[in-house]
Amino acid sequence: MRRIAIVGAGQAGLQTAIGLLKNGGYEVTVFSNRTPEQIRTGKVMSSQCMFDMALSHEREIGINYWDESCPPVQGLGVTVPNPEKPGEKLFTWAGRLEKEAQAVDQRIKMPRLIEELQKLGGKFVVEDVGIESMERMTEDYDLVIVAAGKGEIVRVFERDADRSPFDKPMRALALTYVKNMEPIRPFSKVSFNLIPGVGEYFVFPSETINGDCEIMVFEGVPGGPMDCWGDVTTPEQHLEKSLWILKTFLPWEYERCQNVTLTDDNGVLAGRFAPTVRKPVATLPNGGKVFGIADVVVVNDPITGQGSNNASKCSKVYLDEILAHGDQPYTEAWMNATFEKYYAYAQTVTNWTNSMLTPPPPHILNLMGAASVAQSLADLIANNFSDPSQFTPWWFDADQTEAVIASHMSKVAI
Ligand SMILES: Cc1cc2nc3c(=O)[nH]c(=O)nc-3n(C[C@H](O)[C@H](O)[C@H](O)COP(=O)(O)OP(=O)(O)OC[C@H]3O[C@@H](n4cnc5c(N)ncnc54)[C@H](O)[C@@H]3O)c2cc1C
Repeated sequence: MRRIAIVGAGQAGLQTAIGLLKNGGYEVTVFSNRTPEQIRTGKVMSSQCMFDMALSHEREIGINYWDESCPPVQGLGVTVPNPEKPGEKLFTWAGRLEKEAQAVDQRIKMPRLIEELQKLGGKFVVEDVGIESMERMTEDYDLVIVAAGKGEIVRVFERDADRSPFDKPMRALALTYVKNMEPIRPFSKVSFNLIPGVGEYFVFPSETINGDCEIMVFEGVPGGPMDCWGDVTTPEQHLEKSLWILKTFLPWEYERCQNVTLTDDNGVLAGRFAPTVRKPVATLPNGGKVFGIADVVVVNDPITGQGSNNASKCSKVYLDEILAHGDQPYTEAWMNATFEKYYAYAQTVTNWTNSMLTPPPPHILNLMGAASVAQSLADLIANNFSDPSQFTPWWFDADQTEAVIASHMSKVAI
């Protein structure tokens, strides 16, 4: 039996652990700094909307427990307010997803996956893992995977400056989980609103600890009017501030919120972090090597909602590589090669996500406007959220983007 330690019980850690156990031949221990009960009763950490490609990796290992209960996300739309006519839209469009997306509150999901891990014979240890403990793990286990997300411990992994164009947070983030929001018709969707110079707001249905809800995500440009959470001290004030943003900048979204209440006092979050790519292997003081996965190695701003999707995809690449590696030692060279397999995909997501954090060039503005005329373009953009590598290379090249626009607009003309 090969012995594998995983530090962190989030999307990547638990998906990988369960995948290994289901394949057999691995003794897996997951270390978590929170008990299942603490996760369940703690604060929300994410909005975790996952699209079909990421969900398919969950289905492959049989952890798609919420397909019936979770309200589906059936589309994705973008609205831009008119800067010259406050309260009016410049344009709006919505694309229909070929396969539905899903956002299951991690406070429900992770405790259920921990239960499954233990049912399959995996060990679950509650410990706030530090460097000394990881040193011991490198002696006791064949492989130590660090899946600690944005935890302090990930600082042992060196920032990759060449792959990290930003050295500071690009958005002030906030989450507000609410009940009783007016649903969108004719199909449910991620409703993105891009307010030039101010920030972004998106909202979509989800399943939380007490049933269905809608998750509001706020992305404020630092120093701007949506960077406004500093003086908020209670959940009630957080909801009030959320509604103030909508009333001020997005009245059509405010209209949907006449009866909203918080799902619970922990259904709120505010914070910020710098998007960062890290080197995948860290060498500990004892010389032991640990291997980073998902957010530990590539953490993007949530503006494109890809972090949990990436965690699932990274887990899939690592799982396949571990299985293919058989009894051979997990060397530093193997870890680097495994990460590069993932990064070949992840860099396309990172580049695309980073491109949304600075003012858009004219060809992207044209693209967004054209999608409100050409439905096939709206559908294309929406469906590419499942596999954002499909935006590469054309998104980054004005001529290629104009060619994509023209090919869709020609269908409208006919
Ligand atoms: C505001 C916001 C909105 C988001 N919205 C979306 C979205 O809509 N769609 C999407 O795909 N992604 C979204 N994300 C990103 C997504 O939540 C993360 O990318 C994803 O959860 C990363 O998974 P992970 O397994 O790498 O880490 P995590 O899910 O963060 O799991 C890490 C785990 O490690 C544990 N841990 C940390 N340190 C230690 C330690 N020292 N010892 C033991 N355990 C430790 C933590 O408690 C945690 O349980 C959002 C993020 C934010 C902040």
